[in-house]
Amino acid sequence: MNFFLDKEIQYLRGVGPKKSSIFEKELNIKTLRDLLYHFPYRYIDKSKIQKISEINVNSNNYIQLKGKIVSFTIEGGKTGTKRLIAYFTDETGYIQLVWFQGIDYFQRIYKKDEEYIIYGKPTLFNNIISIPHPEIESPQQKKLIFPHTLTPIYPTTEKLKENYITSKTIHKLIENVLSIYLNYFEETLPEELVDKYKLMPYKEAILNIHFPENHEKLHKAIFRLKFEELFFIQLNILRQKYKRNLFNKGHIFSKVGDYLNNFYKNNLPFELTNAQKRVIKEIRRDLGSGKQMNRLLQGDVGSGKTLVALMSMLIAIDNGYQSCLMVPTEILANQHYNNIKKLLNGLNVRIEILTGSISKSRRNKILDELQKGEIDILIGTHALIEDPVKFKNLGLVVIDEQHRFGVAQRAKLWEKGNGYYPHILVMTATPIPRTLAMTLYGDLDVSVINELPPGRKPIQTFHFTDSKRLLMFGFIRKQIDLGKQVYVVYPMIKESEKADYKYLEEGYESFVREFPPPKYLIVCVHGKMKPSEKEEAMRLFVSGKAHILIATTVIEVGVDVPNASVMVIESAERFGLSQLHQLRGRVGRGNDQSYCILMTKDKLSPEAIQRINIMVKSNDGFRIAEEDLKLRGPGEIEGTRQSGMPFELKISNLALDSRIIQYARDIANDILSDDPLLEKDKNKKLKIQLDKMKPSVNDWSMIS
Ligand code: ADP
Ligand code: MG
Repeated sequence: MNFFLDKEIQYLRGVGPKKSSIFEKELNIKTLRDLLYHFPYRYIDKSKIQKISEINVNSNNYIQLKGKIVSFTIEGGKTGTKRLIAYFTDETGYIQLVWFQGIDYFQRIYKKDEEYIIYGKPTLFNNIISIPHPEIESPQQKKLIFPHTLTPIYPTTEKLKENYITSKTIHKLIENVLSIYLNYFEETLPEELVDKYKLMPYKEAILNIHFPENHEKLHKAIFRLKFEELFFIQLNILRQKYKRNLFNKGHIFSKVGDYLNNFYKNNLPFELTNAQKRVIKEIRRDLGSGKQMNRLLQGDVGSGKTLVALMSMLIAIDNGYQSCLMVPTEILANQHYNNIKKLLNGLNVRIEILTGSISKSRRNKILDELQKGEIDILIGTHALIEDPVKFKNLGLVVIDEQHRFGVAQRAKLWEKGNGYYPHILVMTATPIPRTLAMTLYGDLDVSVINELPPGRKPIQTFHFTDSKRLLMFGFIRKQIDLGKQVYVVYPMIKESEKADYKYLEEGYESFVREFPPPKYLIVCVHGKMKPSEKEEAMRLFVSGKAHILIATTVIEVGVDVPNASVMVIESAERFGLSQLHQLRGRVGRGNDQSYCILMTKDKLSPEAIQRINIMVKSNDGFRIAEEDLKLRGPGEIEGTRQSGMPFELKISNLALDSRIIQYARDIANDILSDDPLLEKDKNKKLKIQLDKMKPSVNDWSMIS
C-alpha cells in the first residue's frame, strides 16, 4: 500500500545527494512520505493584499504587498554589515527590502519594474519601513498545477535557508511529487470507515493540506489526517487490552465477605470520601469480571489511596487469595506496614513486611509461610520480586509510586501468579491529563480520586518577587513564632552545577542572618551531603527541633511533617508546574492553615508569569497538569519521558485535540469489540498498518 512513499527524495528532480542530506539532517526528511508529512504550520491567505500606506509596524504581523522594485543598492561593507537593499513601491509609499545573505543571487533573480507579491514582517529601521529577507513571488509566474487559495508556510531552519531551501522550495518539491504520484495514492483506512464517519479520502486530504482549495477543505483535510494519526495510536494501544482480555483470564473474586465487611463496620476510622467509594466500586467490578484487572489509580498526595488499596486486598482475602503491596523505599514500606497493621487491628489478617534489611532467618520464615499460604498480605520493596519469593496463590498486586519501578521489575511480579496473572492496581500521585493518559497508557483502566478527605484547608499560595523578600521573612517569622515549621526549597537543575550550590549556600546564610541561633535552628539537606548527615538533619526537622529546613528537591519520599505550615520555593520560575504542585503538597497535612510562597526574580517572562498565576489560583493538580500540557507540550510534562513516547505526532496535539482523541478512541473501541484480533476482511488494512507500527509498549514507568 502506497509503497512509492518509501522512495528517497534524493532522486527527485532538483534535489540530489547534497540537498537531501541537508533535508535529512535538518528536518529528518528522507523519503517521499517524510516530505509529504512535513506539514505546513500555517497558511496565508494570498487574496489579502495590504497597502504600504496602511502598514503598522507595531502590529508585529506578517503582511503581503503587491508592487515593483524601483532600484537596488548595496550598503555597509567595510563599516557595517553588508546588505542588499531594494526600494519597493505600490504607489501608496516606499519600503526597503533587505538581504544580508545571498546578495548576488537575489540581485540577479529579481528584476526592476516587474510586478511582485512580497511577504514578510515589516520593521522600522532609520525611520524607514523595511522587510528583511522577504518571500517574493511573481504573479505572472503562477502556472498552477493544483489551484489553491491558501499558501502553506512550512517549518524551515537557518541552515536550510542558507542553502536556499525556503518554505516555497519545499512547497514546489511537494507539488512536483504530487504531480507525479497523486493518482497512485490508495486509501489507508477501510472504505467503510471513511464513508461512515464522512472523512475526507486520503488522497484528497494530502492534496488539500498542501494545496488547500478553500478553508473548508483545509479543515476537513486537517481533521482527516489528525484523526488517522490518533486513531492508529488508539487502535494500537487498545489492541493490547483486547488481546489481554482474550487471553489472560483473571481470577474471579466473586464475593465480598467477612474481612471487608468487618473492616468496614468495625475498623474504618472515618467515612470514605465519595471518590474513594466510587473507585472501590470500579475495582470491585473489575475483580469480579473474570478478566484480569489492569487499573491505574490516580489521586493527589493525601487523597487516601492506601485505604483503597487495603480494601481491595481485603476482597482478595475474602476470596481466598494472597496480595502484595510493593513500594519504592524502605521508609515507605515501613510506613505502610505500620499504618495497615494498625488499621487491621482485631481482624485475623496475617500481614508481613519484606525488605532488604530484614534478617536472613526472618526472611526464610516469611518465604516459607508465604508459600504455605499463611501470609495474606505481603508489603515490601524490590525484595518482593526476587526469585525465591513464591506465593501460594497471589491474586492481587498493588504497586505504589509505580513509576519508580522498571518494566522488567514489574513483569517479574506478574509472573508470581503460578501461571495465572494476578489482578494489578498501580497507584500514582502525579495527576496526568486525560488525553495524555488515554494516549500513553490507554490500555489501562483509570480511576481517579479527585477529592481530598474533608477538613483539609486548601493551601494558600502567594507570589513575592525578590524585592519583597523582607515581607517573606516577616511572614515566616510569624509562623515560626506560632510554633510552626518551614520548608525552603532551592532549584537544583543540574546536580553537578556549581552555581546552583553557591546559590543554595548563599540562601542558607541569608536565612541564618535573619533567623540567628540560638533562638532559631536551621538545617540543610542536599545531594552532596553524606547519608548520615542528611538523616541527622531530617531527624532534627521531623522531631520539631529545627524550625527551617532548607533543601533542594531531594526532600525524601515519605517525609511527613504535619507541623510544617509554609513551603517557600526559591526561583520558582525555574520549576515546572507539576513540580511546583508536588512541592507544595508537602505542606497542608495538618489541621491548620498552610501556605506556599513562590519567590521569583522581579522581571519574568510572560510564560513564567502565566505559570506562577496558575499556581496562585489553583490547588487542583489535574487542572495544573492540563495547563502544563498546554503551556509546554506533552514531551515536557513531568511524568512522561520524551524518549519514552512510543510515537511521534506529525499533526495532532495532545493538548488541543482532546475531542478528536476521544472520537478516535471510541471508534477504535467499536472496531475491536467486534473484531478484537482484526481478523475480518474489512479490517485487513488496519491490521497491515498496525503490524508496521511498534507494538505500544506497556512501559508504565513513563507515568509518574
Ligand atoms: P495517599 O493517597 O497520598 O497515599 P494516604 O492514603 O496516605 O494518601 O492518606 C492520607 C491520610 O488521609 C492518611 O492519614 C489517611 O488515614 C487519611 N484518610 C484517608 N482517607 C480518609 C477519609 N476518607 N477521611 C479522612 N481521612 C482519610
Ligand atoms: Mg501514598
